[in-house]
Amino acid sequence: MTNCECGLGHAGGGGPYAEGRELVEFVARAHGGGLRGRAVPGGGLATRCQGCGAGFILRTFVDSCPACGGVHAVSPPRSDDPANIQFAGAGFVLP
Ligand SMILES: [Zn+2]
Repeated sequence: MTNCECGLGHAGGGGPYAEGRELVEFVARAHGGGLRGRAVPGGGLATRCQGCGAGFILRTFVDSCPACGGVHAVSPPRSDDPANIQFAGAGFVLP
């Protein structure tokens, strides 16, 4: 995986180690919004929706559950483990 500065020095907000909605919003804003659609290295992370429990693959750093639309995200420095995926909460819609 390439070095990504968004894992290190951004000021303000919760940063890449925030949790829940704060992390989702951080990743969605990172790189001027350019990170959220970028593919997760390794073809994605298999996970289970934290809203409805459906299994799905997080293919981009911000992705949503195909069953309920729940928005999930992972930050680049933590993208090697599905346990680090954060859920924005029911009803969250990306800005
Ligand atoms: Zn779901």
